[in-house]
Amino acid sequence: MGATTDTAATLGYLARALKAPTIGRVWEQLAVTARDEGWSHEDYLAAVLQRQVADREANGTSLRIAGAHFPAVKTLEDFNVDHQPSLRRDVLAHLATTTWIAKAENVILLGPPGVGKTHLGIGLGIKACHAGYPTAFDTATGWASRLQTAHQSGRLEHELKRLRRYRLLIIDEVGYLPFDADTANLFFQLIAARYEQGSILVTSNMPFGRWGEIFADDIVASAMIDRLVHHAEVLTLAGDSYRTRARRELLKTPTAASGGDR
Ligand code: ADP
Ligand code: MG
Repeated sequence: MGATTDTAATLGYLARALKAPTIGRVWEQLAVTARDEGWSHEDYLAAVLQRQVADREANGTSLRIAGAHFPAVKTLEDFNVDHQPSLRRDVLAHLATTTWIAKAENVILLGPPGVGKTHLGIGLGIKACHAGYPTAFDTATGWASRLQTAHQSGRLEHELKRLRRYRLLIIDEVGYLPFDADTANLFFQLIAARYEQGSILVTSNMPFGRWGEIFADDIVASAMIDRLVHHAEVLTLAGDSYRTRARRELLKTPTAASGGDR
């Protein structure tokens, strides 16, 4: 025996009022299953709510991932740690838990081009999105131009405050392009505004010793580094570019390694 038309209409209305569309979609089918399998009322209620919560969490994650504007989809699971012996697995496993974001700590990934800094940055950003943390990704140049735009319209304070809603800011490619003194100062303000308030993940091809060249000023650079590394995990990646190494290994492989070594 199913629900009366009245009950069905009421449930539809209640699901809409709760903004819980999954409940509206699943209550009827789950009721059939519950009757067939002799579930208790409590089990049925739990099953319906469980479906709604699972859908809401999945939707939240995909909205956060879309909102982060990652330049590509790269996951930590796709990252080959054997190719990066300089990266400590226990440290990466710890970062993957995202507890550092809860504590507003930072992550700095340093190393030459092609060693996987951006890949790891995106992978950790996706973990953050899964864990419920609003995240935003951009290159250093991209962040700089956002800050310049805000500054020019007298809205820098407002913009810095708005960016606090992101629990993780990813700043990719610090050092590929040098900044003039004004832009360096805006950058410093961004780092200072987030200090102990929200996490930053930075990637750079330049060791800290050369950040004075990027920010046109050793004093600004060291004030920035000071705040960034106070509560931070600094990972220095070494080795060849993954892409050229992969290509070299492909060339080394004997043609159509027939059957392999089983
Ligand atoms: P970087 O930002 O350090 O210059 P990327 O993260 O852009 O380097 O890496 C270059 C390319 O190589 C990307 O396509 C990335 O996914 C891939 N890559 C780099 N390191 C690894 C790795 N250890 N395992 C899997 N893919 C990797
Ligand atoms: Mg990169």
